[in-house]
Amino acid sequence: MSNTETKEATYKPTSPNSKLDFESVWEYAPAPQDSDFAEVKDRYELFIGGKFVKPSKGRYFKSTNPATEEEITEFAEATQKDIDKAVKAARKAYEGEWSRISAKERGKYIYRIARMLQERAREFAVLESMDGGKPIRESRDVDIPLVAAYFFYYAGWADKLEYAFPGKKPVPYGVCGQIIPWNFPLLMLAWKIAPALATGNTVVLKPAETTSLTALKFAELVKDCGLPDGVINIVTGAGQTGAEIVNHQDIDKIAFTGSTNVGKIIQKSLAGTDKKYTLELGGKGALVIFEDAPIDQAVEGIINAIYFNQGHVCCAGSRLLVQEGVADKVIQKLKDRLETLIVGDPLDKNTDVGAINSKEQFETVNKYLELGVEEGADIYQAKCSIPENGYFIRPTLFTNVSQSNRVVQEEIFGPVLTVQTFRTADEGIDKANNTPYGLANGVWTDKGSKIFKVGSKMRSGVVWANTYNKFDPTSPFGGYKESGVGREGGMHGLAAYIRN
Ligand code: ADP
Repeated sequence: MSNTETKEATYKPTSPNSKLDFESVWEYAPAPQDSDFAEVKDRYELFIGGKFVKPSKGRYFKSTNPATEEEITEFAEATQKDIDKAVKAARKAYEGEWSRISAKERGKYIYRIARMLQERAREFAVLESMDGGKPIRESRDVDIPLVAAYFFYYAGWADKLEYAFPGKKPVPYGVCGQIIPWNFPLLMLAWKIAPALATGNTVVLKPAETTSLTALKFAELVKDCGLPDGVINIVTGAGQTGAEIVNHQDIDKIAFTGSTNVGKIIQKSLAGTDKKYTLELGGKGALVIFEDAPIDQAVEGIINAIYFNQGHVCCAGSRLLVQEGVADKVIQKLKDRLETLIVGDPLDKNTDVGAINSKEQFETVNKYLELGVEEGADIYQAKCSIPENGYFIRPTLFTNVSQSNRVVQEEIFGPVLTVQTFRTADEGIDKANNTPYGLANGVWTDKGSKIFKVGSKMRSGVVWANTYNKFDPTSPFGGYKESGVGREGGMHGLAAYIRN
């Protein structure tokens, strides 16, 4: 190799403001995650009373890999009779062995689940990515480690509940019905099951119909860990199956995470009953970037806030509010950064943005892209290539939008960010608060005092400062307004599973 060639191949940054040049410097070779070791059966049954049982009507539904559109497996469809069976199994366990064992023993089972999840972490990560389309880097480094962390955290509380609720004798509700969505399948399962078990409840849980695989794998793990039969029951099916859980007479508490529309239906069904409930619903998070913010850090924060998990995040930061003086700079840097995102095979370790979870959601997001343009917004999409098959959408920005546009007001649940500007802090806060939701917001500024002032005026359950999408089992999470009722995580999450 000649000297000149060596010189040309060396990357030389010019100034701190120069655009990062990835394209001419290196290419990413494919880095596929091996998936052969992760066993997927042809069919999965219901997990009731510690056994895998066939659904009473003998019906099954297919599950597809959204990155390839290929069928992966099929799941049993639970009907009213199956739900009744699952609730009876949960009741029997609650009134039997689960209530008799000591809190310390209860904790040991939860610790065992956490450790077994850690031991099989890679397998769970692979299956989560295959079934749901999320990049393996996220399922491997975020989802599954957090799943184990939530089980560890709540295991620790099992025999210390009197310290969490001083002066009170904590009494569990009994049988809890839990319905979870498709964006963080195993993590939402952990958020629901870990605190319920730690407080002495038993559960009937339904994963979402497009992402039931890891919940059924989890059922296998539960069987292996020797948990008394009926403490955890896992039933599969779509909305009707969920409704059968909500309406079952012998369930004491409903915990739901999903869309605001379904949350409202559930709330109506529960009105007038003595069932308790927590609802974690939609969001339309704002990212408020002030002129004094560290801009490069803020741009990374924006990328993480909206393109993490393809934007399938209820607390996603889907509205950028940037102070006028730095708006052009932030938008330019954001566009540059979009060009470096790799969209594609979820099982490639280089992938930043994976597949949209299902055909249905793919169509929904595409409809919003058309709607935004119809409403008069300017659309900008990363120029990256995307695979021919599968449900992929390029990371998207909408500029030139106004507060009343539907793309600004409604939850899109995809990799789509709207961009608005503001002049004063009050205007930024007003715009941030002006949606029917209130789940999470972010604020970027150099000044600690501004963080507190702005944060305290934001009507949202979570406010992240100079960061976004940070989760920790010790921290409560939940919404204002149409984003839901109740809190999950931390000690608040324990309180949601004991009688007051
Ligand atoms: P999304 O719109 O994000 O797909 P949904 O709210 O439709 O979310 O789904 C979240 C969970 O709620 C899923 O497990 C789904 O099967 C379940 N579900 C849907 N409709 C109902 C219903 N009417 N009652 C109870 N659960 C439901």
